[in-house]
Amino acid sequence: MGQANSGGHPSAGCETFDWDVARRMLAGLPGGGLNIAHEAADRHVADGNGHRPALLCLGRRYERRQLSYLDLADGSGRVAAFLQRLGLNKGDVVAVLLDRSAEFFLAALGTWKAGGVFCPLFSAFGPGPLKSRLELARARVLITSSGLYQRKVAAIRAALPELTHVVTVAESGESPSGCLDFAALMAAQTPQPAIATAESDPALLHFTSGTAGTPKGAIHSHRCVLSLLVSARQVFDLTADDVYWCTADPGWVTGSAYGIIAPLVNGCLSVVDEAEFDTRRWYGILKDEKVTVWYTTPTNIRLMMRFGAALARSYRQNSLRVAASVGEPLNREAVAWGEKALGVPFLDTWWQTETGAIAIANRAGCTHPGSMGKPLPGIETALITFEHGRLSVAEQPEAIGELALKANLPSLFLGYLGDPARTEASFADGWYLTGDQVRRDAAGCIWFVGRSDDMIKSAAHTIGPFEVECALMNHPAVAETGVVGKPDLLLREVPVAFVSVNPGFEAGESLRLELLSFARQELGSALAPREILFVESLPKTNTGKIMRRVLKAKASSEPDEDDPIGTALCPGRFDDE
Ligand code: AMP
Repeated sequence: MGQANSGGHPSAGCETFDWDVARRMLAGLPGGGLNIAHEAADRHVADGNGHRPALLCLGRRYERRQLSYLDLADGSGRVAAFLQRLGLNKGDVVAVLLDRSAEFFLAALGTWKAGGVFCPLFSAFGPGPLKSRLELARARVLITSSGLYQRKVAAIRAALPELTHVVTVAESGESPSGCLDFAALMAAQTPQPAIATAESDPALLHFTSGTAGTPKGAIHSHRCVLSLLVSARQVFDLTADDVYWCTADPGWVTGSAYGIIAPLVNGCLSVVDEAEFDTRRWYGILKDEKVTVWYTTPTNIRLMMRFGAALARSYRQNSLRVAASVGEPLNREAVAWGEKALGVPFLDTWWQTETGAIAIANRAGCTHPGSMGKPLPGIETALITFEHGRLSVAEQPEAIGELALKANLPSLFLGYLGDPARTEASFADGWYLTGDQVRRDAAGCIWFVGRSDDMIKSAAHTIGPFEVECALMNHPAVAETGVVGKPDLLLREVPVAFVSVNPGFEAGESLRLELLSFARQELGSALAPREILFVESLPKTNTGKIMRRVLKAKASSEPDEDDPIGTALCPGRFDDE
């Protein structure tokens, strides 16, 4: 990190950077302190930009609803007011289970204004994963839709004594029994500004999967807003004049960080599409809404590539300036296809839940197809190896090691909820250890090699094998199970389960179908295994641990009989309803 550039506006290509100077781009709360919602909405109103459009929400049938920054400031102020009336205290968790909608944004911003911790949950989770996350989070309030409540939460509500209030966004008719109506609560309130929060106060709780044990709840503070403001300028060159579209699902970190916070703090207009992936719909949105900056995933890009460049070109418009990707490796063919079909190369970016914001990226005019790019200005990285338990930093070109980030990044997580041991194990000598194995070439570009653990990446979502195994073990036929990722052309990996059965059960087609449906019921389509493979017994180490590496090799050699080219499950088509 060197001297700040004179304008204090970090942008692509500027390699000198100073976080203290960047900090001045934030408004801060009028009475001191920092609050994400104030930076994302109220500061724009105070700056005279309240009339500017903030969100364009498209319904499944293309219904249009536009919200200005003033609407966001007002609506989130009302949500904050009702949360406080419901007894929410600073630091309490508000879980939000909603599809992409204006209410999702209002719930997040209102939670921050009330001093709460926003915990988004994925609507394609089944009751099992929802219950465990709501329990671990000790959520006081849940904001969801009436439909999702009835399908996924009603049956587990009694088992969640700490969840004192459920607020539902009405889909039709009255709120379900025991729930409060979101619109009625808002209408009854006077908007309130953000309460005094400090930079280091917890603001976000995202669950990310662990290889063993329960999902890990990564906590971020209000301070992450700085990295999100800056990284969106560095990578996307985002300005208040952009029309920005992030396709991420709410419930995962990208949905909060680059779906809500980064575009709003930069004052631009965000497109929010409620519908799931559909090639023509997506090309139509890019064209009709004159999107200038687009952030999506490799799986979506691969899906679009299947329909050919000619279709993309038939929708082509000249507005698109930046197209970027995150979540899994993006191969060089996909980068080049972007250029051919959309007129801009896809920029691959790297980050993870714990880092809270993009740390490594290709940037316009500085792309290295196939690599994840270079660390952003202000971010110090190292490749770490451990020999006899001692940490050493690899300096030589073409080194391979575990990617580590200097632990001074503003957006770095505060720790895992209620798990200091896991938190401590992620740090060494002032470095945060990412768990990703990477290679750094002579030009300083970072190339993804693989995970150091057994995490499964499917359609850019992370799946912990242990959570899937635990759910399967609840079926009386399952004696033991090991879950691994099987390579998939479209989704990169799909979870598959090796199962040995208990005496009295027959490992046949009918049990296979029963287990698939059982898992889908329990876990939801986002986590359920795609295949069940019966085995006599599971390979184990001397200490009795399942050798997932052996299972992974076996899964990789198994043809997918039902779906040889991997098209059955598409991102955004987690259609378990
Ligand atoms: P999550 O915390 O669920 O967002 O997952 C983060 C993980 O996704 C990272 O640690 C990587 O393993 C993977 N990942 C994210 N972006 C990329 C990328 N551009 N290339 C390769 N892997 C990526």
